[in-house]
Amino acid sequence: MAVRLVHCRDIHRAYRLLHARNGLLGWWPGRTRLEIIVGAILTQNTAWTNVEKAIRALRAARLLSLRGLRSAGLPELEEAIRPSGYFRQKARKLKAFLTCLDDDFGGRLNRMARPATPELRERLLAIWGIGPETADSVLLYAFNRRTFVVDTYTKRVACRHGWIRPNPSYDDLQALFSRHLPEDVPLYNDYHAQMVWVGKHYCRTKPQCEGCPLKPLLLGRPPEA
Ligand code: SF4
Repeated sequence: MAVRLVHCRDIHRAYRLLHARNGLLGWWPGRTRLEIIVGAILTQNTAWTNVEKAIRALRAARLLSLRGLRSAGLPELEEAIRPSGYFRQKARKLKAFLTCLDDDFGGRLNRMARPATPELRERLLAIWGIGPETADSVLLYAFNRRTFVVDTYTKRVACRHGWIRPNPSYDDLQALFSRHLPEDVPLYNDYHAQMVWVGKHYCRTKPQCEGCPLKPLLLGRPPEA
């Protein structure tokens, strides 16, 4: 399969086209830094609507605070986050995050915000159950760091448009976007949100290119498989 040479302008233009359709999407929908972190863990392998239900349940049970999460037993936590799926694993992940916060950062999120981005990323990745997408979501949306978040939708769009070879690694995709975008946290923030939007509405398992804002970038060719 031919791989098209990616141009910096393709990646910029994709954003301009999506922004022209949607405006700023205002992601991530969390009221506090902690809520963003909890949401980033709960959103693994589930739709955001399920995360919203779990967040509402945590809030109703008065568990959506560091004190609440610390004091909750695993069964109570599991019950509250049940709507997000994989709730037993995710409860353990939340507890693992808290253990790291308490052991390494004195239990304070503002202390966790101090290390430089590469070090903080390593510390997050060392927590059980936190992979690159979750770590980068926490870095970008909770700690305002310039870290591009790659997800399934971003990978799909990049591969279908021939911006990168098929089956790229997370790191290769992240490097692609980081190389071609200016160092601009709000842009990274909204770019990821726009990719999620186009993935949900058009670039599904079977692409629906008709009406998709990114169709002009295909230049009349079918998307790559
Ligand atoms: S649906 Fe088609 S035009 Fe839209 S992003 Fe996917 S491959 Fe591109």
